[in-house]
Amino acid sequence: MSMRIGTGFDSHAFKAGVPLVIGGLKIEHSEGLAGHSDGDVLLHAITDALLGAVSAGDIGTFFPPSDPRWKGASSDIFLQTALEEIATAGYKIVNIDTVLVMMRPKIVPIAGEMRESVANLLGVKPGNVGIKAKTPEGLNQDGVAVAYATVLLESIGSSESLGRMTATVDEEMDAVVAGLVGKVRDTSALGRKVTPFDTDDLT
Ligand code: MG
Repeated sequence: MSMRIGTGFDSHAFKAGVPLVIGGLKIEHSEGLAGHSDGDVLLHAITDALLGAVSAGDIGTFFPPSDPRWKGASSDIFLQTALEEIATAGYKIVNIDTVLVMMRPKIVPIAGEMRESVANLLGVKPGNVGIKAKTPEGLNQDGVAVAYATVLLESIGSSESLGRMTATVDEEMDAVVAGLVGKVRDTSALGRKVTPFDTDDLT
């Protein structure tokens, strides 16, 4: 089994008049996050961590801000694309850990709900998702939301490829045995039906 690790970072400024969505969760707040898409800073950091883990570039590679198709887009689309990339590369998520840095709103009271939302979007158990929050003490960035994400992946299909390998060996063994004892035939050279070979006859 092989493992891969990825990290992601993102930041968005708070802006009045837009809904606040973090981790796919709609949050009651006076401001939302400015951005070309829905500004979901957490899903963007997770998307980059996933893409980075399989060396597939970053969110801007797939969804350039210059493309009008992604204006106001739900960041779930970005996340699902990253999930497809890791699956295509032959990996699945082991666990994911995140840190949110923002002065407000307070994340702790909604961290459980946010964890459920992210786990749901990723298709993993909530126990495999970490949501942590800090206030930006001394950073002078109270009007900004920042997210960091780390993801661990493991290869999938190792048992499937082992199965394929076993099947190939079985086929090769059959070919060797057939070469040694000859193909079992149920008709004679003259086309007459013959009785099947009985191994008991060898004793
Ligand atoms: Mg972003």
